[in-house]
Amino acid sequence: MPERSPLSALPACFDPLRARPLRALAALRLSCATSVTTSPGRQRSAVRRCADQLRFTLIAEASDVGVSARKTSPFERPALSPWLQRPHAYEADVWSHVDRAVRSVQHMTELIAWARRHGRILVFGMPEDGFPLVMTPLSGDSVVQRCVDLARDAQQEAETISARLTSAHAALRETGRYGGGLVPFGYRKAPHPSGSGWCLAPDPDTAPLVRSIVSDVESGRSLLAIARDLNEQGVPVPRDRHAQLQGRSMGGRRHGRDFDRFRWTSGTLSKVLRSPTLMGHRTHGGQTVRDELGAPVLIGRPLLSDAEFDALQVTLRARSNGTHRPRRRTTALLIGVAHCQGCGGRMYFAARKGYAYGDYLCRATARGEVCPAPAGMRSDWLERYTLDRYHQATGKDGRAVREGLLRDGVRVTAAKGRRGGGPERNHGPDTARLTFTIGEPSDSRWDH
Ligand SMILES: [Zn+2]
Repeated sequence: MPERSPLSALPACFDPLRARPLRALAALRLSCATSVTTSPGRQRSAVRRCADQLRFTLIAEASDVGVSARKTSPFERPALSPWLQRPHAYEADVWSHVDRAVRSVQHMTELIAWARRHGRILVFGMPEDGFPLVMTPLSGDSVVQRCVDLARDAQQEAETISARLTSAHAALRETGRYGGGLVPFGYRKAPHPSGSGWCLAPDPDTAPLVRSIVSDVESGRSLLAIARDLNEQGVPVPRDRHAQLQGRSMGGRRHGRDFDRFRWTSGTLSKVLRSPTLMGHRTHGGQTVRDELGAPVLIGRPLLSDAEFDALQVTLRARSNGTHRPRRRTTALLIGVAHCQGCGGRMYFAARKGYAYGDYLCRATARGEVCPAPAGMRSDWLERYTLDRYHQATGKDGRAVREGLLRDGVRVTAAKGRRGGGPERNHGPDTARLTFTIGEPSDSRWDH
């Protein structure tokens, strides 16, 4: 419960018991980069709570979706600015939180000057305090200072996010060029650091959203539920975002129907989450494009590290069996399928503590034998390689199980890797070390 009533913050001239309650405007704002906690629905109910506490009557709502507070002052926002130009249509502006109003000290100062000039009230929800911060024309310096301090916090928060996105600029120098086509979700077009051509850079509006979607997936939220949230929040799908970045209108014609904008589905989302562009890779047909040395060609700074991307794929694969319960695999997928080329024996699976993946390793030592060239490979790489080849060879879709692979006579051999190697070592399996065969009778001599 609040210790003191927010009404005490109102001067007598705003007597809440007077005949006509004060009229208030609900001001909502949402950039694309957002989490569920700032959805319009949540903002709306927080604003309503503030208005109730102050006994204000909400007369209208100004909702700016897809508007960044860093770049756009309240006086430039499409929905809010017309209201700010008509200050006498109402007495108060109510935001669910300071950061919905501004992310800059400068903008806060402008807002306060506006309120003073027109004798209006500014209300900022303070979820932690239980009652809103209210700035009236008669508020003293301490209230003004508090508003400015909160704006500074919101500004610093935005700067931290932005610095994280733009750091490691040097890494871009090794970046390949972006040749056109649909800009992958989470990125936007940026001048190539060499000065000629284009590359892709994380989009400050959608890149944080990608991270929040990934963490939602990792925490077990279904793609369907996430897609629903994104639609509710008005987040544009990749195709619409691309149009938006190009200054074209969203939506269009699909299956003979016209759409104002397209909607997220679990399919759209799945495509975004499974694309190696999240690691900054150039892709073709959904697959990483590699240079002559086998290293991925980069189009921009990665949104996810290789390890994060791999972990995500494991989560998604485990999910696609239709249940959302984490699957406990008693036998690793490639047991009996993966073989060491050095000794021809089966590889076994060894978990890595703290990682979503483990390793397939030659088990000659466990058999008490000596392998001339014991092979080992990260389990997620070997599994991805095997499943890709398997799906290619069979045209089957969906999740493959170990029994299915064995039944179809799938056999993968891995040769021992060389020591050392460049950074490309961390980008994926060296497929030159791998062979894939299917449908050949298993050679039982080798299957110890
Ligand atoms: Zn071996």
